Amino acid sequence: MRVRNKPWAADLIANHPEKIVESGQQLKGKWNSRFPKEQPIFIEVGTGKGQFIINMAKKYPQYNFIGIEIQKTVIAIALKKALEEEIPNLQLLYADGANLTDLFEDGEVSKVFLNFSDPWPKTRHEKRRLTFKSFLKVYKQILIAHGTVEFKTDNQGLFEYSLVSLNNFGMTFDNVFLDLHHSPENEDNVETEYEHKFSLKGQPIFKLVAHF
Ligand code: SAH
Repeated sequence: MRVRNKPWAADLIANHPEKIVESGQQLKGKWNSRFPKEQPIFIEVGTGKGQFIINMAKKYPQYNFIGIEIQKTVIAIALKKALEEEIPNLQLLYADGANLTDLFEDGEVSKVFLNFSDPWPKTRHEKRRLTFKSFLKVYKQILIAHGTVEFKTDNQGLFEYSLVSLNNFGMTFDNVFLDLHHSPENEDNVETEYEHKFSLKGQPIFKLVAHF
């Protein structure tokens, strides 16, 4: 997702330190202090404009959600949306998912969501894919024992790559869906922006759920 740099983005972020964190290192091991209730923390890496994480937080008040995004203008758009309602169990974090071990203590996170991650189709860009082994290592470290990764995409190439990558890492698959929207799992599905767009075009949505 590429968006033009918006001048209002930096100001909006600076004006809402209660909802968005810019230097997450200080909160390592203390993320639950950002929420009214101490409860399991679920994160989304590459949260985009926030539709998924906002609706998940509203649907599951028994968990604390953190949406992480590397592009400032994109997370500012998510912030704008998040501020329209009172969602106490939602926080946003402007950061690079590659540095999650600097941001979260070992075992601090209960679940990692990856949705419609950039496919990086060229082999020489494999290391940038969010399901590359270096990212899996990071997720494993910050997750609770046997912590879960949930991944959705419309991109068959990235999905097949991810199945192999997670399998080679020794992860166990709980579920694999090759056409999520026509499966029973769809009943509880919370759509992302990309998912909405791609499924309108009739593209099947792939999903995997796996744990370490
Ligand atoms: N999850 C959203 C957006 C998908 S686009 C949806 O499904 O609609 C992928 C997003 O991941 C982009 O906004 C991109 O900026 C972000 N991203 C890519 N690499 C990242 C990284 N290393 N850390 C955090 N966010 C990242």
